[in-house]
Amino acid sequence: MERLKGKNVLITGASSGIGQAVAIRFAKEGANVAINYYRGADGAEETRQQAEAARVSEGRQITLQADVSDETQVVAMFDKFIAEFGSIDVLVNNAGIQKPCHSHEMEAADFDRILGVNLRGPFLCSREALRYFLKQGRGGVILNNSSVHEIIPKPKYLSYSISKGGMENLTRTLALEYADRGIRVNAVAPGAIVTPINMAWINDDAARAVVESHIPMGRPGTSEEIATVFAFLASSEATYITGQTIFACGGLTLFPEFRTAWASGE
Ligand code: NAD
Repeated sequence: MERLKGKNVLITGASSGIGQAVAIRFAKEGANVAINYYRGADGAEETRQQAEAARVSEGRQITLQADVSDETQVVAMFDKFIAEFGSIDVLVNNAGIQKPCHSHEMEAADFDRILGVNLRGPFLCSREALRYFLKQGRGGVILNNSSVHEIIPKPKYLSYSISKGGMENLTRTLALEYADRGIRVNAVAPGAIVTPINMAWINDDAARAVVESHIPMGRPGTSEEIATVFAFLASSEATYITGQTIFACGGLTLFPEFRTAWASGE
């Protein structure tokens, strides 16, 4: 099924993990895909090749280097995107970073960097996409990669939690501001997904078992399971959905501690 046939899509941080899976899935669905990367040129090229191989009919895949937190680089990236594809239909704000640290020991520079990539980046990219959407006059779609930590606090990851909480309001505010211009803005909030950001537990059997014990469905998700939600939200099957976050988290947001009725003495 090519639900995104001919759509021009920019995906940030697509040299690995979920962004890579989104790029491959979107190419399979017929989209022209620009794979943004920051440092992982090899990963971006790998994404491009896999996206090319996944494609059913024609479509183009290119790579674009830029730090999403840097205004000049973001503007230049959009200029290049438009020069290559002529117009933009979908932006996926996927790039994100995290770093564990007790909040009372956190360096201000680390706080700024995480907010810079995770929140300023989506703002800058959304602003540029919106400018083109409005100029083109045929609407558009912005999708944000949030997290269950949009609503679940994450001690020792203060700036990450703040960034994802802020992303909910970025999603909802832009959705409301541009709904009457045919522009939809939504988010996907993954739970624990097997990607490089989670190397701390992926290859450690004991640590992974702890992670799995907290997930109602008993396993982490895959990048492909998240990419499919992005594809749905980008497609014409979701034309009446805006301002929403879809939680794809194996039940992590269902208060797993209440699997047993411990509070009622049962
Ligand atoms: P990942 O580390 O593979 O992906 C993050 C990507 O962002 C990398 O490709 C990295 O190069 C890129 N990036 C970092 N700084 C950048 C910058 N300044 N400019 C452009 N790109 C930059 O991990 P992932 O799990 O695929 O993460 C993707 C998104 O998914 C993130 O926003 C993350 O918060 C979110 N997420 C992941 C999980 C999970 O369990 N894996 C859960 C919830 C949310």
